[in-house]
Amino acid sequence: MAKLLLGKPVIDSLREELKGRIAALEERGVKPGLAIVRVGARPDDLTYERTALKRAAGLGIRARTITLPENASQEELMDVIAWVNSDPSIHGCLMFRPLPEQFDEEAVCDALDPAKDVDGIGRGSMAAVFTGRGPGYAPCTAAACIEMLDAYDIPIAGKRVVVVGRSLVVGKPVSVLLLDRHATVTTCHSRTGDLPAIVRKGDVVILATGRAKAYGRDFFHPGQTVLDVGINVDEAGNLCGDADFDAIEPIVDAITPVPRGIGGVTTSMLMKHVVEAAEGMVTPSCQT
Ligand code: NDP
Repeated sequence: MAKLLLGKPVIDSLREELKGRIAALEERGVKPGLAIVRVGARPDDLTYERTALKRAAGLGIRARTITLPENASQEELMDVIAWVNSDPSIHGCLMFRPLPEQFDEEAVCDALDPAKDVDGIGRGSMAAVFTGRGPGYAPCTAAACIEMLDAYDIPIAGKRVVVVGRSLVVGKPVSVLLLDRHATVTTCHSRTGDLPAIVRKGDVVILATGRAKAYGRDFFHPGQTVLDVGINVDEAGNLCGDADFDAIEPIVDAITPVPRGIGGVTTSMLMKHVVEAAEGMVTPSCQT
């Protein structure tokens, strides 16, 4: 039986840490502020927004949502971003993506001030994560993976970590954050040959592909730690990860379940980044 790496203890511990830091900020007359920018009303965005607003309210972070209709123009959204950039009471901004087709999404992401880009969507943040210099933040899910490993005292330095997935949201940034923590990282993708053999070589395996229950027994052996970032719906309509949990949980040493694993920690990392932004700490939070 694997040790279950649950998100809740990590979320609870982050909440206590952030409460202290927010109290210290309030003594200096600063209330951390988060702007959530949403175009349209996709159910997934609304769910995440509700969670983020609740989490922010519980901590004393002032969060507000700016909504635009589905058919809004690039200019209208750029105006919102310009306002976010210029408002000193907003320290961080979360913008839901993908944007509807009429938008030049890259241009919008790049227009956000990297110092307020708490979910690491713009080029400035990516440069900061990849170079370790300048203002910007790692995407919250990538940061959540590192937070989970640290919270459960799972060593990174000197270990072999296999990341399956190479998106800019998860796979690539988490690979860089792990490299910065002195792991030996292999990043895999849809064209990787003999994926099971490579995954078996990882001391730690991070699954971030969005393929329901795709990684089963032939990928794993005892001694491994598995972080399952995937959020999928299985044939029965239940939430599940990328790992075939029932098949590999008896084999590996430790695993994050889906739900109750990484997902909630991602929201906590958003709050942590907002607090860091308010503190004026604008370097990526997960680097050593
Ligand atoms: P993307 O679709 O952007 O990227 C998926 C990645 O998986 C790509 O790099 C792709 O490779 C790779 N991939 C696809 N098929 C295979 C395969 N057969 N073998 C190996 N690699 C494969 O997804 P995201 O990175 O945005 O998200 C991944 C998962 O994480 C999703 O389930 C998503 O819901 C979840 N997620 C969870 C979050 C959380 O808060 N917990 C936040 C963000 C995402 P290639 O590049 O070659 O196409």
